[in-house]
Amino acid sequence: MKGVLTWEDFRKCGELVLNPEAHPRREVQDPVAAIDSRAIDGPGIFIALRGESTDGHRFVQDVFRRGADFAMVSREWHSLEKDPVPPPGKAYIVVQDTEKGLQELASIYRDTFPIPVVGIGGSNGKTTTKEMTAAVLRTGFKVHVSRGNFNNHLGVPITLLGMRRDTEIAVVEMGINHPGEMELLTAIARPTDGLLTNIGHEHLEFLIDLEGVRLAERKLFDWLDRCRGTIFVNADDSRLADAATDSERHVLYGTGSPEGRICSAESVSVGHGGRVSFTLTAGAVREQVFLQFTGRHNVQNAVAAAAVGLHFGLSTAQVKAGLEGLLPESGWKRLELSEEGGVTIINDTYNANPDSMRLALDTLADMPCSGRRIAVIGDMLELGATAEDEHRSIGRYLAGLPIDMFFTFGALAGLGGRELPERCRGHFTGRDELLHALQEEVRSGDAVLFKGSRGMHLEQTAGALILEL
Ligand code: ATP
Ligand code: MG
Repeated sequence: MKGVLTWEDFRKCGELVLNPEAHPRREVQDPVAAIDSRAIDGPGIFIALRGESTDGHRFVQDVFRRGADFAMVSREWHSLEKDPVPPPGKAYIVVQDTEKGLQELASIYRDTFPIPVVGIGGSNGKTTTKEMTAAVLRTGFKVHVSRGNFNNHLGVPITLLGMRRDTEIAVVEMGINHPGEMELLTAIARPTDGLLTNIGHEHLEFLIDLEGVRLAERKLFDWLDRCRGTIFVNADDSRLADAATDSERHVLYGTGSPEGRICSAESVSVGHGGRVSFTLTAGAVREQVFLQFTGRHNVQNAVAAAAVGLHFGLSTAQVKAGLEGLLPESGWKRLELSEEGGVTIINDTYNANPDSMRLALDTLADMPCSGRRIAVIGDMLELGATAEDEHRSIGRYLAGLPIDMFFTFGALAGLGGRELPERCRGHFTGRDELLHALQEEVRSGDAVLFKGSRGMHLEQTAGALILEL
């Protein structure tokens, strides 16, 4: 039954160890399932995972006290604990490997939902596209969507276990960093529909090069082709566009001419505060869409979301309402705009790779501003063998943009600075020194972009600068 897990389902994953006197519920409707013991506050299923720093098994008794009625534990833990019987009204689901157990349980649960599951993969813009898609679909359906960036071998199953009996469509972000991961994620989530935002430089330490990324990501399309699902194809990406071979199941979208596409974005412009707008064309209908987001690349994300919405029968007016109503969350750190003391701050410190770095620089270049455009560029991590070249090429890329000056932070970013010494105002490896230099330089009217990999924590510098303005 939709949204229900039963003892039989638990037994498909492993052995159900019950208290002989008092059993828990035979059926769990709309389960609360968590891998973080703190997220359990009442009846639910706790999955004890062994992490790098903590072992979830340590919290099993605690979650039982907090009201959880099922705990998925490993066979090894159970036998080391001398095969304990759970407290009255509780049960252990004893499995070989709790990570696999979680995936199996999520997959069994997903099977109870005869609904569309839209998988969102690709190199850049998955979370944004997922939020936009959910916002559009919510204008007509009860939607369940991945929370935050819950997109990997643990996040996908947790997302699925969050579907409720009234869910009509699920939107699931799928993130990979190794070959083979997309196969795992599709096997768990069994998407019926899907899109890849784009193919770009991501996790090259494992995916090697763009061809490696393409092969690994396109396993989502292979899955959808096998199960006759719908594939939304980004016609602007040459590494994806050739997937459109079947006009019935392959739905094209993109920017530029709407010919042959379910929808297209034209006449992109950057308005007040850097927010982007565009004309959405779908058949004979044209709709002006004003996003709350900055960055022209967000038009790509928006048109992908529009394609999904239109495919599910929503009108362009609904698509427009869904997209325009979506605000970037505070703390989003993806081209997040704020203004302090007359200075526009663009915080894009959530993460960085060469593609998103270029887009962030383009966005700064587009930003209407009365003062100077200043970029603070941190290292892009996880680039593998190409790291040094990629950083140098960012310096050369900057040369072609109307950005007045830049600062670099981190050993790799410094290589970019050397390519354009006349505009590089300083190279830093110490956070305090960087902040000091910015305090000296930045004044009212300027627009300042902070961009670097998550590990560089440039949000700390952005936050500290804001406090001083
Ligand atoms: P992750 O792999 O961390 O889950 P993601 O694919 O979910 O990332 P987002 O979190 O939506 O992507 O955005 C991350 C960064 O990617 C943003 O800071 C932005 O600069 C860039 N980005 C967003 N959309 C696009 C796009 N369509 N094309 C290229 N870059 C994009
Ligand atoms: Mg993401």
